[in-house]
Amino acid sequence: MFKVSHSSCTDKDIHELVMICGPGNVVIEGPVIEDCSHDEMSLRATPDVVVFPSTAQEVSQIMKYASSRRIPVTPRGSGTGLCGGAVPVSGGIVMCLSRMDKILEVDRDNLTMTVESGVLLMTVHETARNHGYLYAPDPGEKTATIGGNISTNAGGMRAIKYGSTRDNILGLEVVLPDGQSVFFGGKQVKKSTGYSLMNLVIGSEGTLGVVTKAVLKLLPLPARTLSLLVPFNSLGDAVRAVPGIFSKGVLPQSIEFAERNVILAAEDYLGKKFPHTTAPAYLMIRVDGGSSEETEQAMEVIGDLCLESGASDVLIANTVEREQAIWDGRGAFLAAVKSGNEIDECDVVLPRSKIAEFVEYSKEVSGKVGIRIESFGHAGDGNLHIYVIRDGKPEEVWEAKRDLAMALLYEKGHELGGLVSGEHGIGYSKKKYMRSTLSGEEIELMEILKRSFDPLNILNPGKVV
Ligand SMILES: Cc1cc2nc3c(=O)[nH]c(=O)nc-3n(C[C@H](O)[C@H](O)[C@H](O)COP(=O)(O)OP(=O)(O)OC[C@H]3O[C@@H](n4cnc5c(N)ncnc54)[C@H](O)[C@@H]3O)c2cc1C
Repeated sequence: MFKVSHSSCTDKDIHELVMICGPGNVVIEGPVIEDCSHDEMSLRATPDVVVFPSTAQEVSQIMKYASSRRIPVTPRGSGTGLCGGAVPVSGGIVMCLSRMDKILEVDRDNLTMTVESGVLLMTVHETARNHGYLYAPDPGEKTATIGGNISTNAGGMRAIKYGSTRDNILGLEVVLPDGQSVFFGGKQVKKSTGYSLMNLVIGSEGTLGVVTKAVLKLLPLPARTLSLLVPFNSLGDAVRAVPGIFSKGVLPQSIEFAERNVILAAEDYLGKKFPHTTAPAYLMIRVDGGSSEETEQAMEVIGDLCLESGASDVLIANTVEREQAIWDGRGAFLAAVKSGNEIDECDVVLPRSKIAEFVEYSKEVSGKVGIRIESFGHAGDGNLHIYVIRDGKPEEVWEAKRDLAMALLYEKGHELGGLVSGEHGIGYSKKKYMRSTLSGEEIELMEILKRSFDPLNILNPGKVV
């Protein structure tokens, strides 16, 4: 990637930032600096200063000033990312959008909600529900900001039926690296008007612009949802059943998979019982529909197909409590695997028909490299989360085994027609895997785009490309 020399913040720079944002919104020491030096993984780098803008105008002024002084700026939402995207590896300013957290409008005629980018996903879900609507994307971490979801193109558990974040965004207000504010898209349902700059910014991990406002797509709430917990004798059997479900012409909201180990870890972590834990592997399936009949019919088709594909039982969660026990457990998988341990994650996405082969290969890698590997993920959309776990290994042993395991996994993913990340992004830590699996032409085009948006390379330098 092109190099441009950057400056660190001086006392004068801090003073200028205080003039823009106000003294309470500029922090140079203490726990805020520590918090903003990492995300959910182990990479760490300390910023010179953390700023909390309250308006898009302040964001714009900060970018203008940072450009004039060539100070790097790393945008940050809630810091729940999993690949170092929000870690300020070049120092400088961390710009935390969490105080821009207003819901600006729910537009019933156009089925849209307009929000500032620091609003939390849980607030978006609740607001939509309170108005009788669904905001469909459902990534596991509900304390993430909508700006973070947009910038990583977060996926989550309903992506099979409703798509990722990108498929549910209609418009974006973005502050460019030089401080100009632009609006891409709007409330239109369809768009065929030149290059889609909005879609370029979505998933760009804060390297092309700072998202300050978004127009989200709303849907009517489904009339009924039902969940199934389906035990299998092996993880291979469980994931092999998945392509068959689609071939029956039904489209569930979610199909997640997990092995018993992960479920037991989640039970321990939550201090709550999961409805069934004796089988080696499980599918967790949620269906929804416009009527009870439609939902029940889909559930029956899926249940029968699972039994034909080797499931030892099909458990129907037909009360709110039972459904919640399944999905609360699912929501805790990552935290449970990570609890008290160091991990690295392979977020590979594959054609659905290749999931079983990849999961079986991950077990071979575990044996060959001599390291524990646990997996769970979104079986329905081919996005697997494979975790390589340190378990107290000395630093050098851990690094060598982790790097070997990750390289083998990504190589296999590429061979099976997969991509490095299905939803968590590239950030800092997955760059080398992206470079080794995309073509030179693709990487070059990405670099040209980055240069066009950010010729001074001040916005989240060192990330993605
Ligand atoms: C327990 C757990 C479960 C998770 N489950 C899922 C899941 O199911 N699906 C999924 O996709 N992810 C999941 N994640 C990952 C994470 O929650 C998402 O990547 C989320 O989108 C990050 O949002 P954030 O606000 O925390 O962003 P941050 O981590 O703060 O930032 C992420 C990236 O976005 C950039 N950014 C943030 N805000 C802005 C902005 N306003 N403008 C421009 N750039 C910005 C940052 O620079 C960085 O590159 C999970 C994480 C955890 C810890």
